[in-house]
Amino acid sequence: MLNLSNELKGMKSVAISGHIRPDGDCVGSTMATYLYIKKNMPEIDVHIYLEDIPDVFNCIKDVDKIEKADGVDRIFDCFVCCDSVKERIGAAEHIYDNAQKTINIDHHITNPGASDINYIVAEASSASELVFNTLNFENIDEDIAKALYIGIIHDTGVFQYSNVSPSTLVAASKLISFGFDFPTIIAETFYQKTYVQTKVCGEVLENSRLFLDGKVSFGAVTPQMAEKYNTVSKDYDGIVNGLRNITGVDVAIFMYLLDDGSCKVSMRTNNDNVDVSAVSHTFGGGGHKRAAGVTMEGTMEEVLEKLLSEIKKQY
Ligand code: AMP
Ligand code: MN
Ligand code: MN
Repeated sequence: MLNLSNELKGMKSVAISGHIRPDGDCVGSTMATYLYIKKNMPEIDVHIYLEDIPDVFNCIKDVDKIEKADGVDRIFDCFVCCDSVKERIGAAEHIYDNAQKTINIDHHITNPGASDINYIVAEASSASELVFNTLNFENIDEDIAKALYIGIIHDTGVFQYSNVSPSTLVAASKLISFGFDFPTIIAETFYQKTYVQTKVCGEVLENSRLFLDGKVSFGAVTPQMAEKYNTVSKDYDGIVNGLRNITGVDVAIFMYLLDDGSCKVSMRTNNDNVDVSAVSHTFGGGGHKRAAGVTMEGTMEEVLEKLLSEIKKQY
């Protein structure tokens, strides 16, 4: 198994990044890696590059040290990519391309493992659980543990999804032994939404539609809603779960428009009747069997038609 300290021995500089529009697992896994290197390998000049993160993750130590990758032309000894393929890290991709050595820690079934060192386990709950496996337990502190715990709870829906395994819970039990206030972390980072986030979610659910005899639910944030509530993509975390929790639904589809007019799609399933990673892969996206995403060109209605026809083929 990969041991991060061993891999980084003798290195002078390390860059870390994760996927665009960072979620809890992306922030948790990359920040834990950053904090671990900073604490245990002080000789390494470590930098973390991410797009803007949701405000709820400001409870993680040192998130103010996160940098933007645009225009950085430095050659790092090593690049650690967590929770993503290098093609989905956005502006940090050129830093990855220039690095002497690349390490990829990920749990996406669609990740081909094309870095120098690959620790990719599709069955793992989260990149954070995998990062935990790469760390020496005695060198973890409360801040690192908390970042990893946040990553795990976000990708498992607080331990409810089928990606939870005995080893996920063993990792979580070791992490909570550091004594951070996990009930507050769960409430404030996972469940709580701002008032506008709650309102926009309500409007999406109000306007949702069912397809394929009620087996597929669909909801979208229209540009009009985004303008009305003054919301952006990071305000939409969790809306897809509302669509998924409708009785009889196998697949939930959620959409919103990106700044360039393309359509960002999130899909979730409640069972194995449909594999949404295969559906999203058809259109250039990826993810997991039960949670996947893709960005597609076309109007929302056109994109919906394409997705429905691909889903239909799986029945
Ligand atoms: P999302 O619906 O964006 O929350 O994504 C669901 C899961 O699929 C997450 O694990 C994402 O990291 C992954 N995912 C989303 N979009 C893509 C993509 N374009 N390529 C690969 N994985 C993706
Ligand atoms: Mn992620
Ligand atoms: Mn993840």
